[in-house]
Formats: sequence, C-alpha cells, structure tokens
Amino acid sequence: MITVVFVDVDGTLVDEKDNVRPWVKGLFNYLKHADCSVVVWSAGGQGYAERKMEMIGRKLEFDFTPLVDAYLWKVDGQSVYAESRFYIDDAEGLIDAMKLSGYGTFLVPFYCSSAEAVDNWLLKAAEAVEHFIDARDSGEVSSDDGD
Ligand SMILES: [Mg+2]
Repeated sequence: MITVVFVDVDGTLVDEKDNVRPWVKGLFNYLKHADCSVVVWSAGGQGYAERKMEMIGRKLEFDFTPLVDAYLWKVDGQSVYAESRFYIDDAEGLIDAMKLSGYGTFLVPFYCSSAEAVDNWLLKAAEAVEHFIDARDSGEVSSDDGD
C-alpha cells in the first residue's frame, strides 16, 4: 500500500530565515526508499512550496526533484486520493485534526536554527513513518490471519 506523506515547509524544513533543518536530505531519501509518495505542501501555495524546495536544494547542493511527487497548496490536500496518509508538520492544530481522522502524524517543533545544539526531529519523523508503515502492515497481516 502506498503511503502518501505530506511534508510542510515553513517551520518544518526551514526556519523563518530559511536556514535548513538538519536531516532534510535524510528524510526525503528515506521516504523514497520506503516507496512513499511525497507531497510537499504549504499554506503559501504550490509555487511557494516548489520554490522553497529549490532553495533548499541549492543550499544543500542536492536535487530533490526525483524525491518529490507533488507540490500542493495546503487547501488542495483533500483532493489527493490516498488510503494511507502521514503528516509531518509543526502546526499542532493540523496534526491533531489529522490524528483524529485516523492518519499517521508526527509533530515537529517550529525549527529554530539556534535553539538546539542537535536538531534531529526530521530523523525522528522518518523513524515515525517507518513505525507507522510497519504497524499498519503487520496489522493487515494479523487481521487477515485472524490472530
Ligand atoms: Mg509550518
């Protein structure tokens, strides 16, 4: 089953001065490796999300294009067909709402490049996606087997 992972931009991948959070490359590489469909979305709109990823790519000297399946305005997320969704975001209200809807979620604190000596929230986010997929897939097997 394809997991569609929605990744927020501002506060999640970059701080307010566009400093890039550690582990962005690791997170996107992991999501591709795990066969997730990756949607980068922003309340700023589709074009904004795409430009921010290009900026992050330039800073990290890395091409994110093959790792991102779609850019979206946050409002358009409802139109995405997906049986299985996971949200990585710094917006607590959004995370709470998606959790209530039964989706996988991981709340990251708004990134502040000077706040923590080591910021590994995106590494933890990748691990949370991994656990979500493992739990879902093992749940499917056990319900099929009746145990
Ligand atoms: Mg945000």
